[in-house]
Amino acid sequence: MDLSARDARVLWHPFTQAATAPPPLPVVAAEGAYLILEDGRRIFDGLSSWWSTLHGHGEPRIVEAIARQAARLDHVLFAGCTHPPAVELAERLVALAPAGLDRVFFSDDGSTAVEVALKMAFQLHHDRGDRARRHFICLEGGYHGDTIGAMSAGDPRTFGEPFEPLLFPVTRVVPPLDRGALDDGAPAEDLSAALDVLDAAFDAQPGAVAAVVVEPMVQGAAGMRMMPAAYLRAVRERCDAHGALLIADEVMTGFGRTGRDFAVQHAGITPDLLCLSKALTGGTLPLAATLAPAVVHDAFLHEDMRRGFLHGHTFTANPIACAAANASLAIGGSLERVATFERFYAERLPVFQATRGVAKVRYRGSIGVVELEGGPEGYYHPVGPRIQRAMLERGYLVRPLGPVIYALPPLCATIDELAALFDGLEAVIDGL
Ligand code: PLP
Repeated sequence: MDLSARDARVLWHPFTQAATAPPPLPVVAAEGAYLILEDGRRIFDGLSSWWSTLHGHGEPRIVEAIARQAARLDHVLFAGCTHPPAVELAERLVALAPAGLDRVFFSDDGSTAVEVALKMAFQLHHDRGDRARRHFICLEGGYHGDTIGAMSAGDPRTFGEPFEPLLFPVTRVVPPLDRGALDDGAPAEDLSAALDVLDAAFDAQPGAVAAVVVEPMVQGAAGMRMMPAAYLRAVRERCDAHGALLIADEVMTGFGRTGRDFAVQHAGITPDLLCLSKALTGGTLPLAATLAPAVVHDAFLHEDMRRGFLHGHTFTANPIACAAANASLAIGGSLERVATFERFYAERLPVFQATRGVAKVRYRGSIGVVELEGGPEGYYHPVGPRIQRAMLERGYLVRPLGPVIYALPPLCATIDELAALFDGLEAVIDGL
């Protein structure tokens, strides 16, 4: 029996409707920008395996670090113990992140990085005696993961509808959108309309907002929706004026994806809490981090154990994952690679604009987007799976978000490979 048949008997896949989905790709190896299938076919990983693979699959420096660390210290609990890979990684992250984020709290994945940030913000206000501050303002279309807190902060209309009764209420505001690097700046009236909505959200609950949660610059799962940096600066100002924290979810955008190490740097702002995962280990092992300023960390110092941040996961700061992250961060040149992708998108995407059926194009950093004319189905628009199948036949793995088709390849991909992907996409769209 082949792998797919065995899989069909025992497995349950994420984000998949098994009744209608084609059999999963049997991937037996990966190398650079390619996945290698059971039958030997090489498929270009156009979405960096869910936005995680950074430099490329099987990057030898990371593989070697993982093997070395596994042989030395595979795992140890992180309450009451520490180890060199965790300390080194925290030092690296503090040095790389916007100044002032001095403390690193590790967890396992993007959802838990966000859960940690939400709970930190909530407990911080609670323990300071500011118990009315229990409300979160979040962005429409936001996606922050699939645990209950992260789903509450996210927009439930896409994936979370059945769970709505379980989610805590938040105020959702519409961010202004732009076309990424193809724009000179957001039209002023869009920005001011979005800020009026944000101001109204703060005014509706004076003294009650614990934090604002944003995916800075690019909302990933919403359809690679891009926003102007000026909006983030304004959100930062509002948070300061109202005593609320700013939580930046950079699970997708972190580590250079948008052309800066962190997307908040486009706006020149520092969030109070910064959530990281995915590319942290170069995309090799699960690991996440929530960064906080010393003042937030120190607010949890108390003689009473219960005033600490009593949150943790069994595999917090797993040494092998930390070693992989240290090896990934030691590899230089990522921003230069991203800049070459951006130059390619700047030339190639405007040409797409003239293609029949294309509504918009946009790009930022290593993310290049072609958005087809959609419909009310949004993420569930049937054109997505059709394009996915047709691209796969041509040797490209893409996963459209409804009518939004994007490339976010590993940084080892060449411009020729990227050009071939977009040529293939043009032919596929033409044939629809
Ligand atoms: N936050 C953002 C911005 C994401 O894009 C994702 C996943 O796509 C998450 C959080 C959740 O991360 P994970 O799937 O690792 O839990």
